[in-house]
Amino acid sequence: MSAPTNVDVDHQPAKLKVATVSLAGCFGCHMSFLDIDERLLELIEHIEFDRSPLTDIKEIGQCDIGLIEGGLCNAENVRVLRAFRAQCKTLVAIGACAINGGLPAERNRFDLGDLLNEVYQDRPGLSKTSTIPNDPELPLLLRQVRPIHAVVHVDYFLPGCPPSADAFWHFLNDLMAGRTPHLGHALMHYD
Ligand code: SF4
Repeated sequence: MSAPTNVDVDHQPAKLKVATVSLAGCFGCHMSFLDIDERLLELIEHIEFDRSPLTDIKEIGQCDIGLIEGGLCNAENVRVLRAFRAQCKTLVAIGACAINGGLPAERNRFDLGDLLNEVYQDRPGLSKTSTIPNDPELPLLLRQVRPIHAVVHVDYFLPGCPPSADAFWHFLNDLMAGRTPHLGHALMHYD
């Protein structure tokens, strides 16, 4: 997969459109991304954010790069992920949760019904009226937490829990320059 490039009508490099989302994640990857600190000012010379917690845009438009934090734990996660895949030329799995399910996937060792009973009904100290939430507004839980590549094609993977700010910086610079991202040993880590 070649990295995205863009040129506007004046033959000036157009800003790349970037969308980000946290699915079943803790926002730690987004916080690490923001840790590039003052380099954000340089970054926004070259990119424009579309849907993202940083913009509060709720529906994704056509984008060059989609950054996905978190895996899939419910039906809404799957819907959002499919929308990102449909709109983004390049889709990147950011962090352990997107790549392999991460900490939320610890629940995969247990039966989902048993877990819900334990949390909402059987645990000592709960109110006698406590029940498993079933409001139709709530997205249905998946039986198991899954990585995003189980549902859509993923172009690149940026590991770490979270990836460091420097890893984000180098990764995005490679993508913006049209290069295949290459972090090297110093920035590649899985913890
Ligand atoms: Fe949070 Fe780590 Fe998952 Fe990123 S990979 S969302 S930091 S738990």
